[in-house]
Amino acid sequence: MDHTLFPPSDHDHSRCENNLMAFAEHYCEGRGLRFTRLRQDVLRAVASSHKAIGAYQILDAFAEQGKKLAPISVYRSLDFLQEAGLIHRLESTNSFFACQRNFEDGKSCCSDEPLVFLICNECGTIGEMDGKPVAKTIRSFAEESGFAAEQSQIEISGLCRQCQAN
Ligand SMILES: [Zn+2]
Ligand SMILES: [Zn+2]
Ligand SMILES: [Zn+2]
Repeated sequence: MDHTLFPPSDHDHSRCENNLMAFAEHYCEGRGLRFTRLRQDVLRAVASSHKAIGAYQILDAFAEQGKKLAPISVYRSLDFLQEAGLIHRLESTNSFFACQRNFEDGKSCCSDEPLVFLICNECGTIGEMDGKPVAKTIRSFAEESGFAAEQSQIEISGLCRQCQAN
């Protein structure tokens, strides 16, 4: 299991971006999904860092490049990308960040998996981890008390190793 959930601050982020873009193209092609220009642009905007970004920040970034877009079209693209498991939404802040898992192997995507997100309060970087063991524990406790659990996304805030050292 990979315990380096957070990318080092000096890593080559263009690699992360390019891997994700290549994976997204491959993923959409394999499923007959249209990876339109807008969807590509929105994914690139979300993938520009390991932090979460809101729909209006994306619209602002587009506006700076001279692209005026209706919020609804950005929301639709975000929905598409989220459903495909290429990006994830933080419920606590209604913002989006690029999936960091799996796209190096080019095979899988985490669209239906339970996930745990570790969010750094200081730098905003998000680490993503497999939520299956945690979800299983929660489900069995919930079942014992007769509660039918539905949501399986967990968000934990704190400080990443880098920010603790600063
Ligand atoms: Zn990166
Ligand atoms: Zn993911
Ligand atoms: Zn941090």
